[in-house]
Amino acid sequence: MIGLISTTAAGRTGCDRLAAAWPDRTRAYDGAPVGDLLRAAFAECDQLVVFLATGAAVRLLAPLLVSKSADPAVVTVDEAHRHAIALLGGHAAGANALAQEVSAVLTTTPVITTATDATSTPALDTLPYPAEGALPAVTRALLDGAPVHLRSDTTWPLPPLPLTTAEPAGHEAYRVWVTDRVVEGGERTVLVRPPGLVVGVGGSRGVAVAEVVTLVRAALAAGGVAEGSVWRMATVDAKAQEAGIVAAAEHLGVPLVTFGAAALAEVSVPNPSAAPLRAVGTPSVAEAAALLAAGPGGELVVQKQKSAMATAAVARRRPRGRLAVVGLGPGARDLVTPRAAAELRRASVVVGLDQYVAQIRDLLPPGSRVLESGLGAEEERARTAVAEARAGHAVALIGSGDAGVYAMASPALAEAADDIDVVGVPGVTAALAAAALLGAPLGHDHVSISLSDLHTPWEVIERRVRAAAEADLVVTFYNPRSRGRHWQLPKALALLAEHRGPGTPVGVVRAASRPDEEVTVTTLAGVDPSTVDMVSVVTVGNTASRVVAGRMVTPRGYRWQGGGA
Ligand code: SAH
Repeated sequence: MIGLISTTAAGRTGCDRLAAAWPDRTRAYDGAPVGDLLRAAFAECDQLVVFLATGAAVRLLAPLLVSKSADPAVVTVDEAHRHAIALLGGHAAGANALAQEVSAVLTTTPVITTATDATSTPALDTLPYPAEGALPAVTRALLDGAPVHLRSDTTWPLPPLPLTTAEPAGHEAYRVWVTDRVVEGGERTVLVRPPGLVVGVGGSRGVAVAEVVTLVRAALAAGGVAEGSVWRMATVDAKAQEAGIVAAAEHLGVPLVTFGAAALAEVSVPNPSAAPLRAVGTPSVAEAAALLAAGPGGELVVQKQKSAMATAAVARRRPRGRLAVVGLGPGARDLVTPRAAAELRRASVVVGLDQYVAQIRDLLPPGSRVLESGLGAEEERARTAVAEARAGHAVALIGSGDAGVYAMASPALAEAADDIDVVGVPGVTAALAAAALLGAPLGHDHVSISLSDLHTPWEVIERRVRAAAEADLVVTFYNPRSRGRHWQLPKALALLAEHRGPGTPVGVVRAASRPDEEVTVTTLAGVDPSTVDMVSVVTVGNTASRVVAGRMVTPRGYRWQGGGA
């Protein structure tokens, strides 16, 4: 819950706007001395927005502070609504993010002073995996530019870190150690816990949560592996509702996955036994569920451990690389989605066509490895991206528009096996970028057709154009014309003209959203193919499309709105 605290009229206006924007997330504190309001909100909320001068807020909050991990986030906003200052709990409690969110609503400027954000050094406590140990000391070393050594037991898909892999000189060195093992890190080591472990559990009916948790911890300790690296808890379907097991997974903060007895019975395990076979129909629950959830290449690191009413075993997964297939939109920076930008920061390897890399190079964090290639090398780019992900890295394969539309997603995913994680980030494809410029040409059923006969025989393309013509679909032509390809576009337009009139609206959009953007609304009879090139799309309306006030409009139905024809 976000507590909103105000004492003046201006403050109240701000509170009202935040409350209106986030009705379910906020609670307003008003009508008492401000010290009392702050004390109450501090105790009851996990985030506070305080409309008060920073100095006053600091004086009032100081006696309430307990620790970075326990205190709520505090953002202060000044009387004139110029700044939203992340005062307390920047990372841990989310004050930095809250200052940004508040600013989106109140148009304040967020003020963020945590050093790692101010210098764009990756904060070790915002990595995709939990980090433990000497976070302040190692973060300070990173900020000071001191060498920090990276040690990894195995390769997990981390974002680029400004770390050295050279052996450190002496035991004084700072370290980031990626490991699922319990190790002695000392005062200069941060331990990053990759999600590499699966705990399999079984339990008799009525087993207590404390017994399950205690046994799981004992099993982890027996294998010398860390709780922070547990990725999933796994059991048999029949125990999916067993309260002690469900609560234990919650307690450990991991999802519970379950498998059918038949599937578990197929898994070969070191310690099968008769009891679970009688009870739930598989000779192993804990070991088999751990192995099955760990997936191909997984191995047991702790065999079955038993307590009075529970069993537990631990398996280690093979690290999985991560392939993000990222659409960058048609060109304009503000049409790169925030999610696409986040994936570019998340990746340690970026694969793409050189011209697309150039478009987003400034969004890449220092240290990312860029593998760019020229036009044509599509298959090779796809193979490279998949191979890097298979090696365990976090890879972003980038493409313009949507990376799945006449682009890299298909060759890459045709190549990828299920040993990597794949994340798709949709982008604004050229047809949509063009449509927004033309008006509303896609208001009814529409189709995209590529006129490139590089990968597709012309007969197939022609058959599709004819079908679109007969079906009266709005058509957007991608790859409409290039230096070596002239006759295809006029031919395709002629095929459409067999089924729609010469006055049918046609939009030609070149370089949508880029500095050299050109938009032309014309007709089927009037299109000049020589104005069309490889960075253009051509959108042809259906028989109901019209030009209204210079804009192309395809009605949502075939009866033209507003009477008339
Ligand atoms: N994945 C891309 C399409 C790749 S095919 C997307 O989703 O947009 C390449 C074709 O897309 C080009 O020949 C052109 O027809 C079209 N195209 C790409 N970007 C464009 C832009 N900014 N403006 C107009 N057409 C564009």
